[in-house]
Amino acid sequence: MLDINKIRQDFPILKRQVNGKPLVYFDNAATSQTPQQVIDVIVDYYSNYNANIHRGVHALSQEATDKYEEARLTIQHHFNAEKAHEIIFTSGTTHSINLVANGFATLLQKDDELIVSALEHHSNIVPWQMLCEKTGAILKVIPMTLEGELDMDAYSKLLSNKTKLVFVNHISNALGTINPIKSIIDQAHKVGAAVLIDGAQACPHIKPDVQALDADFYVTSAHKICGPTGIGMLYGKEAWLNKMQPYQGGGEMIDQVTFEKTTYAGLPHKFEAGTPNICGGIAFGAALDYMNAIGFDAIADYEHELLDYGTKQLEAIDGLKIYGTSKNKTSVISFNLEGIHPYDVGTLLDKMGIAVRTGHHCAQPIMAFYKIPGTVRASFAFYNTKSEIDALVEGVKKAKMMLS
Ligand code: PMP
Repeated sequence: MLDINKIRQDFPILKRQVNGKPLVYFDNAATSQTPQQVIDVIVDYYSNYNANIHRGVHALSQEATDKYEEARLTIQHHFNAEKAHEIIFTSGTTHSINLVANGFATLLQKDDELIVSALEHHSNIVPWQMLCEKTGAILKVIPMTLEGELDMDAYSKLLSNKTKLVFVNHISNALGTINPIKSIIDQAHKVGAAVLIDGAQACPHIKPDVQALDADFYVTSAHKICGPTGIGMLYGKEAWLNKMQPYQGGGEMIDQVTFEKTTYAGLPHKFEAGTPNICGGIAFGAALDYMNAIGFDAIADYEHELLDYGTKQLEAIDGLKIYGTSKNKTSVISFNLEGIHPYDVGTLLDKMGIAVRTGHHCAQPIMAFYKIPGTVRASFAFYNTKSEIDALVEGVKKAKMMLS
């Protein structure tokens, strides 16, 4: 059992008011809030050992390097990667996916096939379309069902020995559906295809084990997991990372540079050109420590309670429709009020201090499937409460009255 009152004390932002009302923060799927324990790590870095890493002989540089590499180990253990150098620091999920898409440019041939799902965020669609344009590979799409699940029969039929890569999210940001990624990975491996899992929405709720999943690539952003923005990671199996060309050239990623020829550094540095987000990397490690101290099983149990409670309350409102009704979902409720634009609902909720997301959630194909411009999305985290959900429900009822 989580001690929610104690947990809420860790998050200074939850004490603030918005538009004269106590903040109810339900935009966790966009970015999570930051506990004092992580803020302290950021302040400590800039107050006490801010220095560039991997290069200096001086004490501060060594301290910063040690902490940054310790954070890599924390991330390695969290995701159960076999080797620390299979963890590449990136600026986030988007950067990680672009890095892999670029790395595959020299590994694909015309008419090779790539498989994406209908449930993806734009950042797991557009980089692959750019790769197809470059290479002549063909993008195929796993369709979705009305419940917001993937059509797994259709997926099995799309796979063939032409399939080289499959990329799907672990959890949909727009609907909250948890996708059957183990089955997706196993089926892809049978035809020799590699699989990239976009874990941006999963990592706040689930502790993924990349070896048990046998994922070839797993990517995420720290800001969804109580860490800062501008930092994330790419897990890649060593064998794939070694085959891929580097994404960016520059300092840190080289072995030897002459004007005739440059040779690259080994992993992970080959993919970490330039001065990285050092403080962000260290804070990413601290955020995982914070979440692990609370415990992912307890987090998942409590968030399910919130999801069930919120779903029951909201679906009781006449004219309210929830999109994404899979039994396998996390604490995301995407909905619309009949005849009312989601933006108008979100604007009125904001006036009541309630932060939700409105729009297409960077998943326009999902909105096109449902033939809607967007949804109102309330996404709950482990520091939210049932009384905050009550405030949301009251707010939605008021918005309905004012806008009908
Ligand atoms: N994929 C999913 C499923 C997401 O939810 C997000 C963030 N909304 C991203 C990718 C992109 O993450 P970032 O903007 O941190 O790169």
